[in-house]
Amino acid sequence: MRYAIVSDIHSNIEALDAVFARIEPSDAVLCLGDIVGYGPNPNECLARVRERAAATVLGNHDVAAIDGHGIEFFNPNARAAIEWTQGVLAAEHLAWLDGLSYELRLDDMLLVHGAPVDYFAYVLDKNAAARAFAATTAPLIFNGHTHIADFYALRGDGTIEHAFRQHGGRLELEPGTRYIVNAGSVGQPRDLNPDASFALYDAGARTVEWVRAPYELARTQAKMCEAHLPEALARRLAAGR
Ligand code: ZN
Repeated sequence: MRYAIVSDIHSNIEALDAVFARIEPSDAVLCLGDIVGYGPNPNECLARVRERAAATVLGNHDVAAIDGHGIEFFNPNARAAIEWTQGVLAAEHLAWLDGLSYELRLDDMLLVHGAPVDYFAYVLDKNAAARAFAATTAPLIFNGHTHIADFYALRGDGTIEHAFRQHGGRLELEPGTRYIVNAGSVGQPRDLNPDASFALYDAGARTVEWVRAPYELARTQAKMCEAHLPEALARRLAAGR
């Protein structure tokens, strides 16, 4: 079985379509949340994810879109985008989001938006990775939230290794080692590569491959401008930060 892991789509339908064009119909799509927020096409992204994903967990922007929960932690641009999203979100999509959970365990995999148990914590360094590993027994944790494609490996001797995958790349999973694999962001990458990021996990071959998919981001930016979403959110797409 091969899984396509997507996260942090952020209402960017051009980026999502570019990613879905790169996967096979037989791939099982797993979505790690933040389908909405920041971008101009929340309903279109929700429709696409609902049609294609085998499993989805909640992100902090999804939760904020549902009922404003956590919005006090958002910066002014993120908050403005969530308020705009709340104004356009179809009731049917909102109800679907409201039925999602914060984590899912599938075989050896744990799916979370940010980290196990502390769902919206950012795993940005080895200390945070150590806390995340300690919070679950799952051998393979898939997350997003930081918008940075990377991984942490916890060896049998307790040491943690970290590596970026912001230009794509592979990882062969070793027996006896646990992993936190960040798929990067589909719709708003922050690892200085503006191309949409996602990951492919081949459960049989025990490999993870990160893929970057270029998309027509000028089109997304034009729609953001038309919707009067904060200009800085459109600008950052081109910078990938
Ligand atoms: Zn996000």
